[in-house]
Amino acid sequence: MISSEEKLQGVTDIKSMLPGELEECMQSLGEKKFRAAQLFSWMHQKRVESYDEMTSLSLKLREKLGQEYPLTRLRAVREQVSAIDGTRKYLFALNDGNVIESVWMKYHHGNSVCISSQVGCRMGCRFCASTLDGLVRSLTASEMLEQVYQIQRITGERVSNVVIMGSGEPMENYDSVVRFVRLASAEEGLNISQRNITVSTCGIVPRIRQLAKEDLQITLAISLHAPNDEKRRKLMPVANKYSIRELMDACRFYFAETGRRLTFEYALAKGQNDSEEDAAELAGLLTGLNCHVNLIPVNPVKERHFARSGRQAVLNFQNKLENYGINVTIRREMGADIDGACGQLRKSYIDSNQEN
Ligand code: SAH
Repeated sequence: MISSEEKLQGVTDIKSMLPGELEECMQSLGEKKFRAAQLFSWMHQKRVESYDEMTSLSLKLREKLGQEYPLTRLRAVREQVSAIDGTRKYLFALNDGNVIESVWMKYHHGNSVCISSQVGCRMGCRFCASTLDGLVRSLTASEMLEQVYQIQRITGERVSNVVIMGSGEPMENYDSVVRFVRLASAEEGLNISQRNITVSTCGIVPRIRQLAKEDLQITLAISLHAPNDEKRRKLMPVANKYSIRELMDACRFYFAETGRRLTFEYALAKGQNDSEEDAAELAGLLTGLNCHVNLIPVNPVKERHFARSGRQAVLNFQNKLENYGINVTIRREMGADIDGACGQLRKSYIDSNQEN
């Protein structure tokens, strides 16, 4: 099934189709089934940008496809390169003129891309820039794929890891995100191991349970950010809908179903959630769960009033968790000089265009 997001303006998005769906599409055009594999390879393996280049398809078919199935293509409108660590941040224009951002990071284990799953976001997390202007729309699977394709094309380097941690809440764009994972990990496509794909969610409980049943090998990251409901509600409106207890139950279910270790993200904001008592309470929540905690000193956003925790507070927090036997790392800060935090680049681009 193609979800409504895949049918932008009534157009069926051919680049979001799974191989079986593409076969049906080819047959509906009176073509042989094997054309689907050729077309899939042109779009997702050779990654050409127009039907003209798909020379193994007949001219007639290429013309027909061109008329009925416009190919999703992103256009880079801005690139920022960090002078500190080489991280690159891209602003891409979608076919409908909306803009989204993606980040390319170089690690010793390979290149990682952080992609957006929506234009804007409606979750309202208090420290986040992506949500400031609300949600515009969800992205199609092909618009998520194209972020990776374009970045590989521009950098000339292979991407080995994808994190869906850019703007948007992936679990509010569930069908397209799952579709993206299947397409990005397809052997006949980009062929990124599912183990190298991370989906980050603010904790939409029913979707976490649903995702557990998809038979995927991805890493699930939960944005927890607080050790109890009271503190979490001050930071994340979604905490009014689902309690930490329900969330942790869903996480245990996810692990039981998939055997995949969970990641918990915890943004440390000065005086909000960074005391040693907070760390002890957090450890209590996570005891017995196969997980890993990623501490992120909060990235200050100009429209928001959170300050990052001091270096010592971060280290104390880490020590405390370690004393309880919890696996913990402090997120290495990347691209601090290039609007590194989610949604900052898009926001500054839109704001500056409005001033002009
Ligand atoms: N909506 C998803 C994915 C996008 S946000 C989610 O909530 O997980 C990716 C991560 O960056 C989340 O953990 C989010 O809480 C965090 N984040 C957003 N703004 C931040 C900021 N200013 N400083 C530090 N982390 C931030």
